[in-house]
Amino acid sequence: MSISLPTTHPFAPGRIRVAISACLLGIPVRYDGGHKENPLLTNSPLTAHMQWIPFCPEQECGLGTPREPMQWQGDPLQPRLRALHSQRDYTQQLQQWCTRQVRLQRHAGIAGWLLKSRSPSCGVTGVEIQQAPGQPPHRSIGLFPRLLLASKPQAVITEGDLLQDEPALVHFLSRLAPATYYACSHSAD
Ligand code: SF4
Repeated sequence: MSISLPTTHPFAPGRIRVAISACLLGIPVRYDGGHKENPLLTNSPLTAHMQWIPFCPEQECGLGTPREPMQWQGDPLQPRLRALHSQRDYTQQLQQWCTRQVRLQRHAGIAGWLLKSRSPSCGVTGVEIQQAPGQPPHRSIGLFPRLLLASKPQAVITEGDLLQDEPALVHFLSRLAPATYYACSHSAD
């Protein structure tokens, strides 16, 4: 499926292409039909020259919305992504979609990635892997950024939770300037 931006959001196409977890823009793609809009991203004039490329691994890999919440479980070296209640295993389905999407995004002139914190699919740090019952969860990285960094170690990535004020946003944007030049000149690599 393709995602449409809500018409209420003033996202004009710009020069700096940033792939973003769709829920951070207020698009209702979360497992419960909600979103996690970050008003700094949707309202700040600092983002006027950016072109958001929203995507949602879980919805777009075919799980739809709403869906069961999911969690990584098992051996931290080979965890499985399972639905919390039914225990259905979605690891392969999500992995196939993310692998294809990383390849597409790598060649789309994208300068940076802005991903939702703590999500099993999108989170960059602190993503929980539940080991045996009673054990504390292991902390790791979500599937999409793991595959992205394996394919493109120099990718500029940040998490939604780290962008709570304008100085943090300015810092992220400043990291995109060289990345933008590189993305434009190597988009056909
Ligand atoms: S965190 Fe990622 S997978 Fe979860 S709803 Fe947001 S975009 Fe979709």
